[in-house]
Amino acid sequence: MATKNNVYDVIVIGSGISGGWAAKEFCDKGLKTLVLERGRDVKHVKDYPTAYQDPWEFEHHNQVPRTIKAANPIVSKCYAFNEDSYHFFTGDEEQEYVQEKPFDWIRGYHVGGKSLLWARQVQRWSNYDFQGPARDGFAVDWPITYQDIEPWYNYIERFIGVSGNRDGNSAMPDGDFLPAFELNAVEKMIQNKIPGKYKDRQVIAGRCAHITDPQPIHVKQGRTKCQNRTLCHRGCPFGGYFSSNASTLPWAEKTGNLTLRPNSIVESIIYNEQTQTAKGVRVIDTLNQTETEYFAKIVFVNASTLATNLILLNSKSSRFPNGLGNDSGVLGKYVAFHNYLGSIYASIDGFEDQYYFGRRPTQPIIPNFRNVKKQEMAFQRGYASFFGASRGRGGVSELGVGKAFKDSLSEVGGWGIGMMMQGETIPQESNHVRLSSDLKDKYGLPQLITSIQYHENDHLSMQDFLNQGSEMLEYIGAKNITTNNSNQNPGLDIHEMGGARMGVDPKTSVLNKWNQVHTCKNVFVTDGACMTSTGTQNPSLTFMALTARAANYALEELRKGNL
Ligand SMILES: Cc1cc2nc3c(=O)[nH]c(=O)nc-3n(C[C@H](O)[C@H](O)[C@H](O)COP(=O)(O)OP(=O)(O)OC[C@H]3O[C@@H](n4cnc5c(N)ncnc54)[C@H](O)[C@@H]3O)c2cc1C
Repeated sequence: MATKNNVYDVIVIGSGISGGWAAKEFCDKGLKTLVLERGRDVKHVKDYPTAYQDPWEFEHHNQVPRTIKAANPIVSKCYAFNEDSYHFFTGDEEQEYVQEKPFDWIRGYHVGGKSLLWARQVQRWSNYDFQGPARDGFAVDWPITYQDIEPWYNYIERFIGVSGNRDGNSAMPDGDFLPAFELNAVEKMIQNKIPGKYKDRQVIAGRCAHITDPQPIHVKQGRTKCQNRTLCHRGCPFGGYFSSNASTLPWAEKTGNLTLRPNSIVESIIYNEQTQTAKGVRVIDTLNQTETEYFAKIVFVNASTLATNLILLNSKSSRFPNGLGNDSGVLGKYVAFHNYLGSIYASIDGFEDQYYFGRRPTQPIIPNFRNVKKQEMAFQRGYASFFGASRGRGGVSELGVGKAFKDSLSEVGGWGIGMMMQGETIPQESNHVRLSSDLKDKYGLPQLITSIQYHENDHLSMQDFLNQGSEMLEYIGAKNITTNNSNQNPGLDIHEMGGARMGVDPKTSVLNKWNQVHTCKNVFVTDGACMTSTGTQNPSLTFMALTARAANYALEELRKGNL
């Protein structure tokens, strides 16, 4: 009886950005879908406790108390970890891991995953990105092209709502956009000036997953226009930006086909030696520490890049003694991330009669202009440059008290410009994760060992960004230009990718062009673990597009009787 009750058509592991999409696609098409989520439930609006709080209502003025910082040396490094949002971050003690090389693993373990925390930047990859490894001879060739994923980018963008302009930039293709957020006066000046000197560079408004003009599909989800509060990481009660909690999960629930089981850690995938497919998953209930098995015809693994690697590596059988689908031995290897080392700050005179109204949840971007069409630099691949101009506070600059200080708060100061890079890193075999043979976490699962680091290529790329960024800022008339190497650890970019990469050849990859494990056809991996290379774009839009594409393929295969 128990076994019978635990049978579904599909199991989705993880309810974050990619898992939410898998759930939506399968539930929409009538499949009984079990979403297993290791963290607690978070219901849209109801479970956003700080969404309407004013600054003075926070006990610690929205600062992180020293005791919390001391207990969480890793996660407290994240810029978004503040008193208003730390309930959506996973504390360091929840899942211990071994940093063979320093790696800041930032996790959001609850229903919705990191979709409640993300900065919502969504840029498409171009064919230059998909063709990068083949052209420049690193990693392995992508088994798909831009043309394969383009309809799925359209499909996702329409549903989630993406603001942006049609800019005609071939390195960052246009999409199905809602109106863009406006650049301010200084940013517009930079936008106009840069292409005058640099023919290969364009300044565009950062595409972001915010609704600026609600369409019927958004209203149907119960979402409305972004209110420009930029309190997004508290959870948005308006559904102004895309999160699984506001969008895909409630949509899936309405179909009546969704069973969402929070507090359920998937320990491993169970392999059936006879059928040579997965028959289900083993789950630890975190509330009572019991173990249960669930069964399905299809398993989607969407636990987020490193957690997915952990599950696959931990799914051992006599057929797969080194982890599910790991005949090639590459599982856990070629983990890559985004290079966030470089940043630049400057000031600019003038524009004193210009200001901006409302808060804006995005920034301008200069899409990658290095090694785009051919290899031309001393380093491989390139970087996108984000920047923003804003006005500081005028009058008394130091923190103070009294009338002079209070009056100064209503005075606006001069303009400053901040710029940061988002660089592609080259997947290296040595950058890997593996399981500890002796250390366990508090649930008895093997601890993950992270052995991931920056390489010489990343430092050359950073130096080029600092040189080019400074030169561009000088050209547009900025002053006091300072460059900075953050020296931050990998992981803090929160864009880790790879470990179960897609590829043409089962000897050098784990997944085929449909994100299907080469040697275990009913298991699909569609989160960041599947990524063969990283591009210079924020990755989550591509995870969503790959997920919807793979789910619809799996449905077809199921109907044909192939799964
Ligand atoms: C501050 C911040 C800013 C960011 N900004 C951007 C941005 O602007 N653009 C962008 O593209 N990306 C951004 N990201 C990254 C983005 O959030 C991730 O790429 C995205 O959430 C990954 O989706 P996912 O489905 O793979 O994982 P997640 O959204 O993290 O979801 C994974 C889910 O799986 C669950 N899980 C884990 N292990 C198990 C298990 N064993 N069993 C069951 N469930 C499990 C987790 O609890 C979680 O709910 C940002 C992230 C942060 C934190």
